[in-house]
Order: sequence, then C-alpha cells, then structure tokens
Amino acid sequence: MFKVASIILCGALLLLTGCVTAPHDNSDAVATDWSATKPVVTPPKVAPPAKPTLVKPVKLPVARTNVPPPKIITRPAPILTWTSLNRWAAENKLAPPRKVASSPVTSYAISSASGKMILTIGSQEAIWRGMEIHLGFAPEIIDDQIFVHGVDLQTSIEPLLLGSPLTFSPDRVIVIDPGHGGKESGTKSVLGGRYEKDFTLDWARRIKLLLATNGWTVYLTRTNDTDITLSNRVAFAESHHADLFISLHFNSSAPRTQENGVETYCLTPTGMPSTLTRGYPDIWSDHYPNNNFDEQNLLLAIRLHAGILQGCGQEDRGIRHARFMGVLRGQKRPAILIEGGYLSNPREAGKIESAAFRQKLAEAVANALK
Ligand SMILES: [Zn+2]
Repeated sequence: MFKVASIILCGALLLLTGCVTAPHDNSDAVATDWSATKPVVTPPKVAPPAKPTLVKPVKLPVARTNVPPPKIITRPAPILTWTSLNRWAAENKLAPPRKVASSPVTSYAISSASGKMILTIGSQEAIWRGMEIHLGFAPEIIDDQIFVHGVDLQTSIEPLLLGSPLTFSPDRVIVIDPGHGGKESGTKSVLGGRYEKDFTLDWARRIKLLLATNGWTVYLTRTNDTDITLSNRVAFAESHHADLFISLHFNSSAPRTQENGVETYCLTPTGMPSTLTRGYPDIWSDHYPNNNFDEQNLLLAIRLHAGILQGCGQEDRGIRHARFMGVLRGQKRPAILIEGGYLSNPREAGKIESAAFRQKLAEAVANALK
C-alpha cells in the first residue's frame, strides 16, 4: 500500500509542478548549431527546486509483489521511488543480480534471455550487451541490496531485460533528418573547409538508397543545402506520418582534438536528469510529446548504436539523454539523434570525409532496421 500511496503522491506532486511550470515551446528554443559547443557530460548535481526529493535515495519499504500497478490509460506516471533490484528480479522470475566487481568500483550483473546488464554503484553508466547506456541516477546500495531509481527501471532496465520489441506500422515510413543545412553549416572538419551539413546530407542520401530496397518508405527532411527550422523538421515527420525519425549529426569538441566515437541521444524521460544539458534548463518534470515513446526511443537507439559500433568499429560514447533538442521533443514517434563521430578529431574527421566510410555508416543504419 505504501508503494501505491507513494506513486499517487508523487504523481500528484508531478502534476502540480507541471501545472505551475511555464509552458515550453516545443519548437526552436535551442540553437540549431549546438554541436559546435563543448559537451557537458556531468549531470547537474542540484535538482530543480520544485523536485528536491528526486536527488537523494530515500530508504523506502521494498515494493510489494502483490500490489497491482495503478490503472492508467496513457503512459504511466514516472515511478519516483527507489526499487530493490533483487525484489524486481524475483518478481520477474530472473536470477538475482550478482556482484561481479568490488574494487575499485562495485558492480552487479543482471541477466535475462535478452541480454546482460552491468550496473555500477555510484555511476550512471551502465553496460547493456557490451554497450554503454546512461541512466538518470546512479544505483545505490541500501541495506546491502542494490537499488535502482524507478524512472531508470521503467524506461531503461525493464524494457531491455524483459525484451520489449521495437514496433512500427506495416507501412514502414521513416524520416531521416540530415542535420543543419544552408547557412547553418554545423561544425567544421578540423582537416579543412568541409562542413557537417554536407556530411550529414550525404549520409542520409546513402541511407535512403539502402532502406528503400528493404521495404521502407524513406523521406529526407532536406535533399539539398537548405536550412530548415527544427520545428519544421518535426512538422515534416508529422505530415509524412513517419513511424520512426532519425536525425543525423557529427560532433565537435573543438579546440580539443582527442574526443572520438559515436553518441546516440534520446529525449530525457520525464522525472530524470539529462546526460547532456549544454547549459539549457533541464526541468525534470517536463513532459513532451516524444516522452510518450521513452521506451521505444531507447530500443531504436540501441539498435542503431549497436549497428554502428559493430559495422564501423568506432568508440562507444554511449546512449545518452538530452532534453533540449528541439528536433526530438515534439516527435509523436520513436525519434533519436545520432552523432556519428567527431569532426574535431583528425583521425575520425579523415574517416568521415571518406565516402567509403560514410557508406559503411549508412549500411550500419540500414542493416539495423532490417
Ligand atoms: Zn550537428
């Protein structure tokens, strides 16, 4: 009963804060050329004032197995309590998590027929089937048991371990969004005068050719060097009844040149901090249209991220969450944004500038959607 009461109370609090929060523009509130700025990978340590209870794990009674979840017709409200992973595993007929490392960090592995997840105490970085995924909250030890946050359980751990499928209509309509365009050049290759907007367009065209032979109907938000607002990219997906939306970008950490690898972004699920904020407000209680697809966003991200890592051999920088990306927030379908490599890294820029490598990137995306 305590759990139900907690959920109702937290849900009520969330609705309350949602009511007093100023409405957010789902369109172009963010700079379109955000890739050129320095990434911030440390989540904010301080919660927004209205939600201080989200920051610290609270020792709550372990969830009871015989209490049915509340009946909610739309997407369930985020579960803001911490949950014993042992209890959750038992409820779902999985073997209990087992400790796989105790020094220098303590890690636990939990497995299902779908794969193995490794969770590290005090770290938001989890490993799923060998791939890095970023949680909203670092798992904690409470009374000698590993506890995970309810939002992470609901939006990441449960769909992956219980094998939720990625679903789309039989029409298989996909919108590919080549980032930037026109006067919005995106980031510049460290090797010379070429720009991100040209590489994303070429990558998208190659994906289109491949997916069109695999039964997909493919639309590109732009087919030439023109600038399109983020809100129009969202509206384009809507008017073309897209089942899936993928925005393509390349990264930069200029003037630093060392960073390299692939990052895949999903909209941050309601109730958790983002992996990346770039200085934009990160209001945990915000709920955007695309938050109705939190699970599906992650499943799409996993497929494509894994495909690129396997197909192109790049460094894994993880599946991450961001809330400020206007091209994702208003999407009424699974939607992700891929940063296919660093144009500020000479070695990786050299790869991205090669047509053969962009073809490999395109094949990786297309193969992941077979
Ligand atoms: Zn970009």
